[in-house]
Amino acid sequence: MFKKILIANRGEIALRIQRACRELGVKAVMVYSEADRDAKYVKLAEEAVCIGPAASGQSYLNMPAIISAAEVTDAEAIHPGYGFLSENADFAERVEKSGFQFIGPTPESIRIMGDKVSAKQAMIRAGVPCVPGSEGELPDDPVQIRRIAKSIGYPVIIKAAGGGGGRGMRVVHTEAALINAVQMTKAEAGAAFGNPAVYMEKFLQNPRHIEIQILADKHRNAVYLGERDCSMQRRHQKVIEEAPAPGIPRKLIEKIGERCTAACKKIGYRGAGTFEFLYENGEFYFIEMNTRVQVEHPVTELITGVDIVKTQIMVAAGEKLPFTQRQIEIRGHAIECRVNAEDPYKFVPSPGRITMWHAPGGPGVRVDSHVYTNYFVPPNYDSMIGKIIVHGDTREQALARMRTALLETVVEGINTNIPLHRELMVDAKFMAGGTNIHYLEEWLSHHK
Ligand code: ADP
Repeated sequence: MFKKILIANRGEIALRIQRACRELGVKAVMVYSEADRDAKYVKLAEEAVCIGPAASGQSYLNMPAIISAAEVTDAEAIHPGYGFLSENADFAERVEKSGFQFIGPTPESIRIMGDKVSAKQAMIRAGVPCVPGSEGELPDDPVQIRRIAKSIGYPVIIKAAGGGGGRGMRVVHTEAALINAVQMTKAEAGAAFGNPAVYMEKFLQNPRHIEIQILADKHRNAVYLGERDCSMQRRHQKVIEEAPAPGIPRKLIEKIGERCTAACKKIGYRGAGTFEFLYENGEFYFIEMNTRVQVEHPVTELITGVDIVKTQIMVAAGEKLPFTQRQIEIRGHAIECRVNAEDPYKFVPSPGRITMWHAPGGPGVRVDSHVYTNYFVPPNYDSMIGKIIVHGDTREQALARMRTALLETVVEGINTNIPLHRELMVDAKFMAGGTNIHYLEEWLSHHK
């Protein structure tokens, strides 16, 4: 096992990884920007290094600053968390070339999965079902583009090969709008992701977003830890996640889970990862793979008892997975609400000083958050300030525990989306389970 690792992230996930290190008896070096000097995990750190000013381009995305911080502190490995440099293949490569272990997959795996066109091609080869669409990148010739769309059937969605974070997608309903939509998406993709390549998929009308968590070691062992339902989204961004997915037969999950682990073995994947699917009419369609720990990983931890972050560190150190697929059992139901510093209905970010923070507790309640009373939420980063996660024997019990947890939570001084979560936890359709990816947006449009 490593003696010391550097955590190249901030916020709740920096604290989450720090906690995993303490459990493993590994020393953790924290890095922070000038805006994060007062963070709880910095105060609790045995060692912390300031890597630059607030702007993430000069701190959390500053590769030389992070690698030098690892050098001066004698860390052996770097955990990238999620966001920032976590899915940057060049960063993973520079980390390894500098003699550190990157806690994640190989740079090659990150590169293949980071380009959604090459990811889909790899998945097709590995026998994972994908959304029907263009074979690869769209050609320039309008005649050919029209022919591809016609064979897929409208509506179609144009997606950037290098896209992420719900950006770089455009739905097209008619042939008349097609060529213009392709050109606009290409231009945007070039500007936003430095890669103008786009591809085409059938636009599924009412799917659910179901994803499979996997863990793999360096010895070609891979397991899946069940699924998560992340259909409650706004602007293609997840708001509530749960596990297991209500109403999906276990047989179907097992079948797709086995496909995912087989694909991991085939591509030599190591570490934690998530296969994201759209699910419609009993079928799964792969959309992308995330090669890092995800925000919503705790719901899986609560239903399986597996510590995903600790396991990431263990397999990066070369250890074998400490369990086999047969030892993974799903117990009860878990739900996560992302707590964002924003107006609950207008979604305007609401950074600033938290004058009062009171976290909920009680049986089956977990709060992953770095904030505290008097903490200042910097305006420079993502608005998520923490997550409330609950576990129950049944979905009904989990819902009841979440309602109580949200009722107990007090955040003063800034706006949060907790009032929205409180309403959604008593919404009849959400309570029934199985809402699709459009449900939350439709709900919001009726509640303005
Ligand atoms: P990103 O990397 O930006 O998160 P994804 O490919 O994971 O992009 O897609 C994000 C979300 O966009 C999905 O969860 C789904 O809501 C929607 N989406 C993507 N592809 C399709 C599709 N072919 N049909 C319908 N919705 C889609």
